[in-house]
Amino acid sequence: MSNLQGKVIVITGASSGIGQATAQALIQAGANVMLAARRVDRLDAIVKALGDKAASLVTDVTDRKQVLALADETLKQFGRIDGWVNNAGLMPLSFLAEGKVEEWDQMVDVNIKGVLNGIHAALPSMLEQGFGDVVNIASVAGHVVFPSGGVYCATKFAVRAISEGLRHELAGKIRVTIISPGAVATELTNTITSDTVIEHMKPVFDIAIDPKAIADAIVYALSQPRDVSVNEMVIRPTVQEL
Ligand code: NDP
Repeated sequence: MSNLQGKVIVITGASSGIGQATAQALIQAGANVMLAARRVDRLDAIVKALGDKAASLVTDVTDRKQVLALADETLKQFGRIDGWVNNAGLMPLSFLAEGKVEEWDQMVDVNIKGVLNGIHAALPSMLEQGFGDVVNIASVAGHVVFPSGGVYCATKFAVRAISEGLRHELAGKIRVTIISPGAVATELTNTITSDTVIEHMKPVFDIAIDPKAIADAIVYALSQPRDVSVNEMVIRPTVQEL
């Protein structure tokens, strides 16, 4: 029997891409999943396809009250929270001189504050039960910085820093895993509005891998015995250089 049989895992940004693939992989591994994102039509369709071990709540991760309500709803429907995957994110890459200040704010709000809101909502019940898993989706962009990536990379470096802080502070109680994907074929590049960057990034995303590769890594980390903590994985397409 899988170690994930009957476990309850919350996934943010589960309406597409890596989050959706993770929900599918976790259901296959025997877990229950609570999917969160803003697009209700997408969430409803995914939950319908996944069956009765899946549920969803429309949640904007930038709104702390909504994220706390997501934890409450998960406890109400499934009785506990074993794992929380902070996956919601966006990547409107641009050059700093383009001054796309609203996109900078959005990235800080979703990619950093959204992760903090998730940790804040997940910890109380996990600490009460004495264990829990937090999986934070960072990026190769949390390891290297490239032109047009100044703000996005900063948010992903922040995700890794926050994750390390959490791991140090709660070692022995909460397992923390950082997943750093390279190019993955999802809707992420749709958020780029800078024409020059769209052109620049095309070759990078032509080699993108299936989100299932990332979902399988998350299942691997979550299925380890409790004395084993998978702290970080970097997963690139084989041909990706950056
Ligand atoms: P997608 O664009 O396919 O998925 C992003 C998800 O985040 C969607 O479900 C979206 O749902 C959700 N989301 C965005 N803003 C919010 C918000 N305010 N509140 C709640 N949910 C939100 O891209 P990916 O699957 O690729 O992205 C998932 C994560 O993986 C991101 O953190 C991204 O940075 C990271 N990543 C992706 C890589 C790639 O190459 N694809 C590489 C490295 C890291 P909705 O719009 O319905 O709210």
